Amino acid sequence: MTVDTTNSGPLEFATFHNVISNELSSTTTTRHGINPANSKPNPEVPVSTQEDVDRAVKSARNAFKKWSKTSFEERRAALSAFAKAIEANAHMFAKTLTMEQGKPLNQAATEVEMTITWIRAMIQIEIKENVIEEKDDLKIVQRYVPMGVAGAIVPWNFPMLLAIGKVVSAVYTGNSVIVKPSPFTPYCDLKLAELATRFFPPGVVQCLSGDDSLGPMLTEHPDIDKISFTGSTATGKRVMASCAKNLKRVTLELGGNDPAIICDDVDIDAIIPKIGISSYLCSSQICMMIKRLYVHEKIYDTFLEKMIAFVKTLKIGDGTEPDVFFGPIQNKMQFEKAKALLSSITTEKLKVVLGGSINDSHGYFVHPTIIDNPPELSRIVQEEPFAPILPIVKWSNEDDVLDKANALGTGLGASVWTKDFERATRIANQLQAGSVWVNSHFDISPKVPFGGHKQSGIGTEWGLTGLLGYCNSQTQWLRKAY
Ligand code: NAD
Repeated sequence: MTVDTTNSGPLEFATFHNVISNELSSTTTTRHGINPANSKPNPEVPVSTQEDVDRAVKSARNAFKKWSKTSFEERRAALSAFAKAIEANAHMFAKTLTMEQGKPLNQAATEVEMTITWIRAMIQIEIKENVIEEKDDLKIVQRYVPMGVAGAIVPWNFPMLLAIGKVVSAVYTGNSVIVKPSPFTPYCDLKLAELATRFFPPGVVQCLSGDDSLGPMLTEHPDIDKISFTGSTATGKRVMASCAKNLKRVTLELGGNDPAIICDDVDIDAIIPKIGISSYLCSSQICMMIKRLYVHEKIYDTFLEKMIAFVKTLKIGDGTEPDVFFGPIQNKMQFEKAKALLSSITTEKLKVVLGGSINDSHGYFVHPTIIDNPPELSRIVQEEPFAPILPIVKWSNEDDVLDKANALGTGLGASVWTKDFERATRIANQLQAGSVWVNSHFDISPKVPFGGHKQSGIGTEWGLTGLLGYCNSQTQWLRKAY
């Protein structure tokens, strides 16, 4: 296979099409997303039908035959050229991401950079055969073979990064992939697949845009072998039930309600900016933001006061304006959920020490909010807000705060903050979550597997185990004589 590595010229970002078998197509019926900063309609996108899905699956199945036989070196070359072309179009990707997702332009640019970094780093990971036994007449080897056709179902909070993690894992390990973006944010994913047509044979990377009926068409399809889904826990359960029909392999990256435990020995001034950013980045619409902040009672009052002061310095507004940190909530449905949560705060008579209100005059804006020491069973502690509404809770006893941190059905991320490393590791070792951080939160890397415990997911993405999630294990018993 020869890849034209020079083909990274500008992509057109005005019209948006499905990508099936390296051809751009649209559908009779179309729809559009909404720019959440001003409620204006974004461009029209296809609404894929069962016929489009069948065509894409057939093309992916055909492509798999040859693609699965290419070498890692060939796939690395294609992915590397793809990364270079994304880089050449980075500015337009970032602009489009702000338009569809609402996140401020600098945060969108960071997501585009991460997308490129993720490709370049993941293709450096080596998948080795594991020689279990080797004797004169017998060799037993465990190797990893691609599964076939993968479906990549993507949410609206990180449309590019979360799609690319699935695309790279699938095609680098020899699978073909069909991306299904969220109906709220289809634009950058369609353009990623359009760009991919320059570097991959027809059917290896495809993308279908659609409405709510499209996800189930993929999870139900008998000729798809693997679904990698990122989204809410409730949808994840439906995806798994649907995939069970033909025992599709599944990776589920689901919702979280991450606790952070702040001990009494911290340097408050040093950690406040880090805690503030790790609680409110992307207007808290990230699965692994701090969503329950447990602060030791000895420092609680000072911490609370300084946290309020810090959050007040962060600007709210349209993501295209300079220096904005808080963009809008991405969509109306999520905005309505945030409003309902804010009303529960009033009904439950909780103490709001910052924000607590919305601005819907021209977009879906929620003012950054802090709730002072709400009871453990209040909705704001128990539920994932996915909006900038943060409960800060007082603690005094280590076992008790650990019980609270581990009490929920989710287990995505968790952190502990202290100068005492022994205390930190003691607490960290007892936290029930897929990612545990000491003195930070939300560190992520393409080389590090990422996944949830309990109802936050099944399996991992990224890193070596993430790649192996797109492979079947095969053991070969190689006898040199009968
Ligand atoms: P969602 O579950 O509503 O949708 C996710 C995707 O699934 C979308 O593309 C949607 O169109 C599709 N979908 C919806 N119903 C489907 C069905 N029945 N079958 C197949 N696909 C279906 O989630 P969302 O609102 O887009 O994202 C927010 C949630 O995602 C939050 O709970 C957040 O914590 C979680 N999330 C998790 C991670 C992680 O890696 N663990 C990362 C980002 C977001």
